[in-house]
Amino acid sequence: MAALVVSDLHLDPANPGISAQFGGFLRALREVEALYVLGDLFEAWIGDDDPEPHHRETIAGLRAAADAGVALYFMHGNRDFLLGERFCRETGGDLLADPTVVTRYGRRVLMTHGDALCADDRPYQRLRAMVREPAWQSQFLALSVRQRQALAQEARAGSRAHTSTQAQMLMDVNADAVSNAFRTAGVDVIVHGHTHRPGSYEHEVDGRRRTRIVTGDWYAQGSVLRWDERGFELQALPRG
Ligand code: MN
Repeated sequence: MAALVVSDLHLDPANPGISAQFGGFLRALREVEALYVLGDLFEAWIGDDDPEPHHRETIAGLRAAADAGVALYFMHGNRDFLLGERFCRETGGDLLADPTVVTRYGRRVLMTHGDALCADDRPYQRLRAMVREPAWQSQFLALSVRQRQALAQEARAGSRAHTSTQAQMLMDVNADAVSNAFRTAGVDVIVHGHTHRPGSYEHEVDGRRRTRIVTGDWYAQGSVLRWDERGFELQALPRG
């Protein structure tokens, strides 16, 4: 058996190819006991009551995987931090706090979306703190679906403008934030997404070699981390 980790699919009605690939990926799961989705499953999530048919199809695909025996775990990303209880009920999955230490196959791994590690991007961290406030969230969710869609559209345009002017370095993880995360959780492995820089990165923290594994986005191909008794394997999934 194995556990799989994905992130940053950014599912969007405007990009049906990604959703089709993810749907096929879910149907093909074999000998997989758990699937972790570490944030940004959706390009935008305005609330669990969004009737968008494209998202409904993804929910049905996840539900089928859960019914087939795959334990589903979701973590909020910076795009879909409003995924809530109803989404969990409908998919049959569980929401994990960010970060969470997961123990499997004799290893402890810190899982996180990864945006909190990008501490150098100050304007973004201020925005993140604001939208994670329960008061902000309940105010937003009280708006109509149409109003929320319009605001989400604006937020995405703002995000695009921001990321295009920020230096690349500021949008990667901050070395001190990474060291602290390893140290605080007492783990040798961190798995995260968000930066869209898939790979395995070595860090030396307090005289110990530690590994940070980054899952990739699904824009041009799929990206999945396989975790089993033998260890970790990051795989690219070509789009058929
Ligand atoms: Mn992200």
